Amino acid sequence: MKAALLYGVKDLRVEDVEVPSVSAGEVLVRVKGATTCGTDLKIFQRGYVEKIIKLPTIFGHEWAGEVVQTGASVEWPKVGMRVRAGNSAPCLHCTMCQKNRYNLCEDMIWLWGAYAEYIKVPARMVWVNMQQIPESVSYLEASIAEPLACVLHGAEEAGVKLGDSVAIIGAGPIGLLHLLTAKKMGASKTIMIDVVDERLDLASKLGADATINGSKTDVVKNVRELTGGYGADIAIEAIGLPATWEQALKLARKGGVVLEFGGCPPGTEIKVNAEQFHYGELTLRGAFHATPMHFRKALDLIASHTIDVRPLITREVPLEQIRTAFDLLTTSKRDVKIGIIP
Ligand SMILES: [Zn+2]
Ligand SMILES: [Zn+2]
Repeated sequence: MKAALLYGVKDLRVEDVEVPSVSAGEVLVRVKGATTCGTDLKIFQRGYVEKIIKLPTIFGHEWAGEVVQTGASVEWPKVGMRVRAGNSAPCLHCTMCQKNRYNLCEDMIWLWGAYAEYIKVPARMVWVNMQQIPESVSYLEASIAEPLACVLHGAEEAGVKLGDSVAIIGAGPIGLLHLLTAKKMGASKTIMIDVVDERLDLASKLGADATINGSKTDVVKNVRELTGGYGADIAIEAIGLPATWEQALKLARKGGVVLEFGGCPPGTEIKVNAEQFHYGELTLRGAFHATPMHFRKALDLIASHTIDVRPLITREVPLEQIRTAFDLLTTSKRDVKIGIIP
């Protein structure tokens, strides 16, 4: 089968590899659509945590497809069923899982291999984090259940409520999903911050109440002006840079919540103004990944078009042209998510 393998930083090659063979409990899926992700781009550009990805590997983690083979003892799913799965499956019995923090599982398994004609889903993932896709939803839309699951988890941690003002730094795929989610959760004023006008235009089309180009104006001052001088009820960082993590702390009002969502490079430290933090009673939250419950919820929200992810897929390319897709994502910020069709 054809597959795109990542060998190292900016070294992505389409090669012929063996179709994986399926053992007991496992499921083989013909990938019908996969989507690029900010995490993929980060790994492509600078590498990643070795615990999560070992190179070389078939790349990509957002996908959906059709079941073509099931291993012994698999009663569900059936061959021919449209499904999505992963990209993680918690063990359900480590201390973190027992504390209901499945996204922090100490024995998490991760699945890479979306950018290929076939993907083998491990037994635990079939059991814990695979869902059937309704007919009404396309494979590419279903692929976006993964990032949306992470965003749902983050939005729950931030506690977005009816009538909140929400400032979001970053109008990339994750920031835009935060925008769509915050609006559905009842935010009455959403402010999107980015340095690329095209992305801010898309944010406006998707319902952002205000946009700020951070390269042209003072972001903190602007957010204050838009919130009656107070700052936002909730500030979300959706980029993953120390400067914007620190900026998010300045965008929230007294008693507000700051959600640091974008992952920074390992070893990153940030400065927190203790006076502002203490006397302003800020709540500072991190959020990482998602639980199987969030994946299911994300797929339901996509399928019902409660959260319409279709405008985020700005281009589709065949698997053979995946290098073009990553070159575009690296050099221009016009594309949001690119559909990869193996
Ligand atoms: Zn992703
Ligand atoms: Zn666990």
